[in-house]
Amino acid sequence: MLTPIAPNVSQFLARPLRHHIGGRPDAGHGGFAPVLNPSDASVLAEVALGGAAEIDAAVSAAGRAFPAWAALRPNERAVRLHRFADALEQHAADLAQIESLDVGKAITAAEGFDVPFGIQCLRYFADLAVQAPASVSLAIRNLEARTWRVPYGVCGFIFPWNFPFTLLCWGIAPALAAGNTVVVKPSEVTPLSSLFAAQLAAESGLPAGVLNVVVGLGGTAGAALVAHTNVKRMSFTGSPEVGRKVGEACGRRLVPCKLELGGKGAAVVFDDVDVDAVATQLAAAITLNTGQVCCTATRWIIHERIYDPFVGKVAERLRQTRIGPGTDRATEMGPLVSEVQRQRVLDYLDRGKREGAAVVLEGGCHALPTTPDGFYVQPTLLTGPVENVCCREEIFGPCAYLLRFTDEDAVIGQVNQLAYGLANSVWTADLKRASRVAERMVAGNSWINAHNVFAYGLPYGGANLSGLGGGVNSPETFHDYLRSQTIARPLA
Ligand code: NAD
Repeated sequence: MLTPIAPNVSQFLARPLRHHIGGRPDAGHGGFAPVLNPSDASVLAEVALGGAAEIDAAVSAAGRAFPAWAALRPNERAVRLHRFADALEQHAADLAQIESLDVGKAITAAEGFDVPFGIQCLRYFADLAVQAPASVSLAIRNLEARTWRVPYGVCGFIFPWNFPFTLLCWGIAPALAAGNTVVVKPSEVTPLSSLFAAQLAAESGLPAGVLNVVVGLGGTAGAALVAHTNVKRMSFTGSPEVGRKVGEACGRRLVPCKLELGGKGAAVVFDDVDVDAVATQLAAAITLNTGQVCCTATRWIIHERIYDPFVGKVAERLRQTRIGPGTDRATEMGPLVSEVQRQRVLDYLDRGKREGAAVVLEGGCHALPTTPDGFYVQPTLLTGPVENVCCREEIFGPCAYLLRFTDEDAVIGQVNQLAYGLANSVWTADLKRASRVAERMVAGNSWINAHNVFAYGLPYGGANLSGLGGGVNSPETFHDYLRSQTIARPLA
């Protein structure tokens, strides 16, 4: 049953949605464009589309707000971030509904993870900032010396469409807690929760200009943000292709840039596991957010001895996946985010089959009788040679590629043969072996007997093609938003 749309949400979606600049809605000069509901292809809202002019206005507003925000004592900033988190919490149900409508994700997931985990991020970094000393004395012979840490100024953020609210919080919380002001360009495909959150930020008393949101296309608004001379630090989450462009532009300006990029995670399953339990968890890993998860396990490397029962079990579980509109409480897997994304997934599957992949579970396009225009697909399992495009590249849909192994060294070679390095997992009852394999898999994250493990205090980031510049969710992320300066006086 579809959840009825909450009055706050209908009211929010009913009027044309404007950028959030200097604490106020701002229509800008770029006109409005429709944002679609992926569950039925209807128009959800009309949203302003900005470009260089709106980015410039937002960067100016953030620049004006910076001195006063940076001058607040960390606990005073923390109070305001907690008030912002309180406001988000009071509207958690609305936010979850907006996220589910906009992305197509299961409402239960938006309520259980995306929204509460995002809000928790603001509180984590607010509290961390209170504990962090701005000045640290250095014990050095004949020198009175200290390090002094100050915020950079205006920080720019560009986000993708798969976890708009959670990623917004992961990105801006450490920057704001450290005393920076921010300009956010959400994905033009899913901008709604960022605009709703910005409105709540203003209502909660976050000073005007501290958080600005400009909606626009990547090539115009995104590129303008990256190129803006008053942006002192950039953070980009998205594909390696666009990440490279953003990194290059920042490199030319010598502006520090953090890149959180795509992945093609492996799950290595040894023959001593509970086959049913692991099959259930890996099935859930590819149906989570309809497979649109950068770090999830999409290359499953299964020990030869359990390959057949594992495949039988996982295919059975995936056939039972309840596919439906995001806001239906019974839905386990919603649609893909857009028709463009659906075509991308279907093209990959076609290419994979043409290159010789065998179909273990036939998936592909799926038409729901109730909402035939939604962007649905069914889960797919393929197997075949490792050179296959579906084994090498990130598909970003509910698909996994299955491989077999017998030897521990050989399987590590298989895991590490791709340039991606975001997250892998190892599944075994032998914890010594698990630890050994976890260390040898080259990636930002190695998980044991689980996939997709997140906690504040647990650094999360990518290696190689999956990211550069530090990751998120840990004290290091907070320090990353402070520029370090030494102050020294010779004593003799
Ligand atoms: P994308 O790279 O196409 O777009 C990401 C953002 O960049 C969007 O806001 C887009 O408008 C903007 N953009 C596009 N061209 C630009 C340009 N020339 N200059 C500046 N900005 C530009 O990615 P997507 O399709 O939105 O998201 C999917 C990708 O994101 C996947 O590769 C996924 O793995 C990755 N991702 C990574 C993480 C992580 O934490 N590592 C998290 C979520 C998603």
